[in-house]
Amino acid sequence: MINSIKENNSGGQSLFRARNISLVINTIKQHEPVTKREIENITGLSFAKINSIILTLNEKNLTVESGKEESGGGRPSVLYQINPNYKLIVGVELSHSRIHTIVGNLKGEILYNNSLSFDKSSGKDFVVDSLLGSIHNAINGLAISKQKLLGVGVAIAGLVNPKEGTTRPFPYLVDWGDLSIKNLIEKEFSIETYVENVANAAALAELNFGNGKGKRNVLYLNIGSGLGMGIILNGSLYAGATGSAGEFGHITVDENGPICECGNVGCVEALASTKAVIHRAKTLIEQGVISGLKEMAEGDTEKINFEMITLAANDGDKLSFNLLDEMGKNLGEGIVTLINLFNPETIILGGKVDSTCRIIMDSIMNVVQKHALEIPRKATEILFSKLGDNAVVTGATIPLMEKFFSNASGDFN
Ligand SMILES: [Zn+2]
Repeated sequence: MINSIKENNSGGQSLFRARNISLVINTIKQHEPVTKREIENITGLSFAKINSIILTLNEKNLTVESGKEESGGGRPSVLYQINPNYKLIVGVELSHSRIHTIVGNLKGEILYNNSLSFDKSSGKDFVVDSLLGSIHNAINGLAISKQKLLGVGVAIAGLVNPKEGTTRPFPYLVDWGDLSIKNLIEKEFSIETYVENVANAAALAELNFGNGKGKRNVLYLNIGSGLGMGIILNGSLYAGATGSAGEFGHITVDENGPICECGNVGCVEALASTKAVIHRAKTLIEQGVISGLKEMAEGDTEKINFEMITLAANDGDKLSFNLLDEMGKNLGEGIVTLINLFNPETIILGGKVDSTCRIIMDSIMNVVQKHALEIPRKATEILFSKLGDNAVVTGATIPLMEKFFSNASGDFN
């Protein structure tokens, strides 16, 4: 029996009803598909009240019937769920080389998916035009009405101030300035826009729809040309005092290691980002180390990418295997610190690292087994991302989705 509130006869009645509507909506969302009787048990509201609220929600199409509950004797009860397409959200991932755009629904299902690559020489105007064009294409592609569209969520690779919607300049796009992506999109589409950092977005996506589902303390590692982290503590995103929490990449793991972009020496990022690993592969091959990678890259070491290294390693190429093994060891050293510091339930590896990177996972597990404190280590599982390439874009839609559900009762009172 939680949060049940008895109505009285004063003017507070509609407030109580709003509170009860919100309770029913969020109970359905959390436990769907559910029967009215189950909602009664969970919320403690009276059956009559639940009946009346669900009647309204069904009429307005926010909830729908989803079959009947199997029962051993007696009349089977109707099951209810949230209508996933009641509202839609455009999600965009803006990284250093790509604009990935989706239209997602209230269940994180993807109804439209498009990706556009750009070159580091493209410049700000091109990226801004492409970003706005991609959103236009997504909205027009599904002919989404203004009424149905909740807003646009953008995830950006870089430092983000979610309140202002500003982002720090990308390293590659030097003329980016202190542009507010939020203002830019709101001006163009007259629609609510929310901006988040890529690792935070992916962490939210895994928490809601992926391998963090049902968990309260989850760390998401975005492993690519940089190393970012999204931190979920007690079920909520932790952003830190100025929004920059999660700089996992700048934990020092080797005092004698290479210089990092941040100015320090031997950061995990300088050793175990995909950029660092690709650079090492090139250097070693140019120094004469024999590897199948050279052939895969048609003799041009500039063409070597992370996918090639993974493929070659899984195919038995010694150099590639050693590079990924080393990458895993360095990531593992950083992860040991995370386990000791946060005592998380789950650490999720995402970005460019996926289930084809077993070699990396094995060497991470070795290091963790040896060096992490026993009690937090035994409580932590380390998994690959479930949502993969769609984690960031799906996560970009979640803040608007959460806002909709926390304010939803107003629309149905
Ligand atoms: Zn660093």
